[in-house]
Amino acid sequence: MKILIINAGSSSLKYQLIDMDDESVISKGLVERIGTVDPKSNITHRYHGKKYEAEIDKLGDHNAAMELVLKMLTDKEYGVIASLDEIGAVGHRVLHGGEKFTASCLIDDACIAAIEENIPLGPLHNPANLMGIHACQKVLPNVPQVAVFDTAFHQTMPPKAFRYGLPNHYYTDLHMRKYGFHGTSHRFVSARAIELLGLGKGSKVIICHLGNGSSLSACVDGKCVDTTMGITPLDGLLMGTRCGTLDPACVEFIANTEGKSVSDVLNMMNKKSGLLGLTGSSDMRDVTAAMDAGDENAKLAIDMWTYTVQKYIGSYIAAMNGCDAIIFTAGIGENHVRARKWVCEGLSWFGVKIDDARNDSHGEEVKISTDDSKIQVWVIPTNEELAIARDTLEIATKK
Ligand code: ADP
Repeated sequence: MKILIINAGSSSLKYQLIDMDDESVISKGLVERIGTVDPKSNITHRYHGKKYEAEIDKLGDHNAAMELVLKMLTDKEYGVIASLDEIGAVGHRVLHGGEKFTASCLIDDACIAAIEENIPLGPLHNPANLMGIHACQKVLPNVPQVAVFDTAFHQTMPPKAFRYGLPNHYYTDLHMRKYGFHGTSHRFVSARAIELLGLGKGSKVIICHLGNGSSLSACVDGKCVDTTMGITPLDGLLMGTRCGTLDPACVEFIANTEGKSVSDVLNMMNKKSGLLGLTGSSDMRDVTAAMDAGDENAKLAIDMWTYTVQKYIGSYIAAMNGCDAIIFTAGIGENHVRARKWVCEGLSWFGVKIDDARNDSHGEEVKISTDDSKIQVWVIPTNEELAIARDTLEIATKK
């Protein structure tokens, strides 16, 4: 079966068509500037090992973008399938499943209503995800669709990990708690770690998803017991553009001093902070190059980034009272050899030892610790689209 994966943002739509017979990617692409004030939209479409990139007439909404994607997939020149009948199911990445969704689900009226209910928790993403779902329902009315939630994997956290120390009604009435994100990646990587390392019952694994957005999770028996992101993805690690954990009183201080609204301050904390705010670039490669060229800000930013990752790893070893393996994944985790070494250098007291020759790898599944390291350290590339496709296949074909 061929499965179409859709990741709809507020003005963008990413897609992948995956052949589940061999789990290969047949085509993938991205439509940008949908329904924005820009006079044009953009498409990047990959097919048969080639790439088509173009600025196109403005697409007014996600329905128009979805129609274009399906046209590209079936196009005589750029297409990869003869007809839309070849698409057996559609899997949607949905940001916030709140407390309703502990797993992926078939999209029906009740599922859509629940995604709508969670809009206050994911005000930017959930409406965009719904636009993607509605657009697909319109153009592929008879194809089963599945929602896969970024928050679902973290729903196994115990209350002591997910509750905030606020008066109870903020939880009971407003559902304010830690939810966590990147769950599809954490689930995929943690399952693969258990399989690959042959870990038995009671396994304790820390997943370090280090990309532009970054989060850690502590997993016991493949189930999440804690994670660094909170009610939104702003919490936890220092990231590409997000500040991560800080004293919430900073919000009031900045708002009062600069005459800004709370939304403005949070927007700054989400989009202009982290590596970007400290150095001028959100990209770890740029920051590393600047540090190597002697830039003190870049050096400080990397020290802060490393220190935060180390502190959370240490706290998760305490939270699980042990650790069998630490896994690096996502853009930095999979590719940045030195960043992995920086993090692990601070973990020597726990018996972590890195083998430099093994660590010299990019984007590969590899053990990077020495054989006598007390905790195994591995790189396991994530694949969120494949995880979504596998869930979609399972749910769409369930009798
Ligand atoms: P996103 O959260 O947007 O999915 P990614 O997982 O793609 O982010 O990670 C982006 C980060 O990965 C950037 O900071 C980038 O510098 C880093 N990165 C990507 N490729 C490499 C590489 N070859 N070497 C070092 N860092 C890399």
